[in-house]
Amino acid sequence: MSQNSNKNLDKNFKLMILSATILVVLFFYTMYKSSTQIEGSSYYVGLLFLFLLLVVAIFLKLKQDKIKDYFDKRGIKTNSAFENELQKQNSKDDITVKNHEFENSNIKAVTSNITFKDVAGIAEVKEELEEIVDFLNSPKKYISHGVKLPKGVLLVGPPGVGKTLIARAVAGEADVPFFYQSGASFVQIYVGMGAKKVRELFIKAKASAPAIVFIDEVDAIGKKRTGTSNDEREATLNELLTQMDGFEGDSGVIVIAATNKIDVLDDALLRAGRFDRRVFLNLPNIEDRKQILNLYLKDKKIDFDMDKLADNTAGFSSAALSTLVNEALLNMIKRKAKILEQVDIEIAKNKLQFGKKQMKILNEEQKEILCIYQASKAFVCKSKVALFDEAVPLLSSTYPSYNELIENIKRYLAGNIGVEVIKRQQYAVNSEDLKNALKIATDMVEKYKMANDANELINRVKNELRSELSHNANEINKLKEIMQRNEVILENEF
Ligand code: ADP
Repeated sequence: MSQNSNKNLDKNFKLMILSATILVVLFFYTMYKSSTQIEGSSYYVGLLFLFLLLVVAIFLKLKQDKIKDYFDKRGIKTNSAFENELQKQNSKDDITVKNHEFENSNIKAVTSNITFKDVAGIAEVKEELEEIVDFLNSPKKYISHGVKLPKGVLLVGPPGVGKTLIARAVAGEADVPFFYQSGASFVQIYVGMGAKKVRELFIKAKASAPAIVFIDEVDAIGKKRTGTSNDEREATLNELLTQMDGFEGDSGVIVIAATNKIDVLDDALLRAGRFDRRVFLNLPNIEDRKQILNLYLKDKKIDFDMDKLADNTAGFSSAALSTLVNEALLNMIKRKAKILEQVDIEIAKNKLQFGKKQMKILNEEQKEILCIYQASKAFVCKSKVALFDEAVPLLSSTYPSYNELIENIKRYLAGNIGVEVIKRQQYAVNSEDLKNALKIATDMVEKYKMANDANELINRVKNELRSELSHNANEINKLKEIMQRNEVILENEF
């Protein structure tokens, strides 16, 4: 059904209520003014009819959402208030004219049939994105308070944790078109081609607003600009920045981008008014893995301990879990069986761990090392830490003092030194932490002249940490056990 022929339920309800009210008022007025008595029950039948009309109108208005869902499920598209407002706005600008320029392009929106129900676990991520869904569903609530939602949301996390899936779920929940583009698709040979594609994407999205634009692996175009070479990539990034500046927060286009690493992105992309909302996704913890397995095995007959499987798959991404279940089912079919058994799971696990893709599951010892690393981090930072959290909770003040900078170095080093103290041996766990600690120390020496030598500073903090953590070894071991059990340490567990 075309956009123009869409039924505008909202408007019709209002009209119905208005007409019924006018009719009731007219009826009473006529009765009052009338000098001749009309015989029989026709007055009361008429009156009853009008009241029924009013009651039906109020009932329909109250159940508007359910009725809208009913029509939507049957493929009859109903316009939201937001769509109407936007259609009015868009007809005023020249978007339709510009659209002709790109008639033959392959940038097209899809309708997402994924909703939050299809995304297992990651409750906090869903919660963060619910606001955007609510904004797209009932914009008036926000616009009337002058609230502008972020134009851009950046999803940061390793591959296979559901960044694309959750973006599609936002589009599905809000029932808006979903424009998918991978960052790499903008990388072109000829200067200007990538920029043209970005422009085209935004023109199309604005024309079908409210809409979600999803740019996967945004780092392909969003890497820090060096000022030298690669004119094409820079032109493309500049166009993306220009486009993001060029629409208002209430235009109904929300750009969601995904990346594995936020620190390679150009600062301009992260500035206010662009991707100023960030949502971090990590590998699923035990609870998430249980929920993901539950989702995939919902209608299957199984004869193995699912909780144990969740426990034994630490290190698997959500995508790896989905592949694991799929491989296990394939094996079950091969065995001509109807019940999924432990043997299917074991064969699938071996295939994934040692096959071409080499998906990693942490063994007992590796998990213990990671648990000590995270437990030491939690102990020093005194904050909630999950097993696969990559970020280190830092102090962040605009004008950090010498002590605050030293505290942040300590926080970066805590995990590695904790493992060294408890295991009485050094392990190569996380080199990023060491790099970050050295960066702060170097800034203290070179930029702020607070110290003479960065390495000396690092060594001093390391020694202090060694002594603090070995004095608290029992506490760290206790936290480690909590982490091994729950894959998360909460703030109330110190
Ligand atoms: P990313 O974009 O982070 O690389 P994807 O969203 O493409 O990951 O996820 C790949 C696949 O993994 C999805 O199509 C889905 O089958 C599965 N998956 C990922 N996260 C989840 C989740 N939270 N719940 C259910 N399935 C998931």
